[in-house]
Amino acid sequence: MIEYLDARALVLGAAKALSSESVPLARALGRTLARDIRAREDIPPFTKSTMDGYAVRAGDTRLSGTGTPLEVELEVLADLPAGRIARKAVGPGQAVRIMTGAPLPAGADAVVMVEHTESHERTVRIRRGVRPGDNIGLAGEDLRRGEIALERGTIIGPAESGMLAAAGLARVPVTRRPKLAVIATGDEIVEPGKPKRPGQIRNSNGTALTAMAVEAGADARYLGIARDRNASLASKLARARGADVLVLSGGVSVGDYDLVKAGLEASGVKPVFWQVRIKPGKPVFFGVRGRQLVFGLPGNPTSSLVTFLLFVRPALDRLLGRSAAGPASMTAVLDEAIVLKPGRTQFLRGCFVSRGPVLKVAPYEDQRSGVLRSMVRGRVLIVVPADAARLEAGCEVEILLMDGL
Ligand code: AMP
Ligand code: MG
Repeated sequence: MIEYLDARALVLGAAKALSSESVPLARALGRTLARDIRAREDIPPFTKSTMDGYAVRAGDTRLSGTGTPLEVELEVLADLPAGRIARKAVGPGQAVRIMTGAPLPAGADAVVMVEHTESHERTVRIRRGVRPGDNIGLAGEDLRRGEIALERGTIIGPAESGMLAAAGLARVPVTRRPKLAVIATGDEIVEPGKPKRPGQIRNSNGTALTAMAVEAGADARYLGIARDRNASLASKLARARGADVLVLSGGVSVGDYDLVKAGLEASGVKPVFWQVRIKPGKPVFFGVRGRQLVFGLPGNPTSSLVTFLLFVRPALDRLLGRSAAGPASMTAVLDEAIVLKPGRTQFLRGCFVSRGPVLKVAPYEDQRSGVLRSMVRGRVLIVVPADAARLEAGCEVEILLMDGL
């Protein structure tokens, strides 16, 4: 039996980033950048007005800083909407009417907001002075040409796709989605919608694990149920050959019908570890078959989902070349004392009790590994070190986020 962090390190060590592919920008949401993206030009590409108003030579407004209610009248040369270039430079005593986003005309060095002006036929009266640089955005102030806009390993969210568009990319280099196959095992489990006999239960892991894989960015395929017989398992395993990651639920314990470990080894999977000093999820198995990563997760619904989060999730992050391998970890304060049986690192399902000014968490009452309810309501896993017998209210604990905050 090995420790949680050692097991995690073995998984991370075996997971190497997959190759990359190019996808249209519109399909890049949620994907991971396969290389650094540099700005191909300055962003913004020219110095522009950030207000509707008048482009002027700040010196002409002669009011800078004094607040004197002195007014000046400037000659208006032209009207400049966004998307156009001024044909004439702004000379002394002159101004160009300018809209937000239009390139600043040559000669001008500031913009007076329209609210501070009074427009006449060919002239404008300026009621408030400006200093050079007022109400303009400089070329390249967001990004300079050649500068890194987004680093490889970044997950593309809405802001990132906006940045890629600003940088002019129509296609984006991303890592290939890991192909992941899910196999549920057990003689007692029945798919939803199928008739159920006494003694049988619904297969919840097939759906839940596939969903977790999809959420983590995998191209996940559910292969159905292998019964607790060698031949049944072998035929499902054969169908999973092309997958980068294979996830099985159930049958990895020490019961008479727990055939998964032996079945995996018979199909050429080399074991890396079996049994980790954690609760829930102790019987978890990890092995490799060539470049394929194989996880045998315990069948208890909670154990299954927790071990997915602890081991499969970081493996997927690595395969995707993401800059951080999940699950996201942070520190919170325990809202109530917990008493535990020491011996294994525990991952208690819990939730946020308060989000501020201090982040406070509390575990759910029922921590039995068959209780899927605690995962449904859960937001966090509270990590309790193996040697802790009691944690006091108010003490700091590490938490792992099951999803966002
Ligand atoms: P096992 O790991 O196969 O010994 O299963 C442990 C417990 O989890 C047993 O009570 C099983 O009935 C249950 N179980 C196994 N597979 C599933 C599944 N796919 N969905 C729901 N419960 C399951
Ligand atoms: Mg079983």
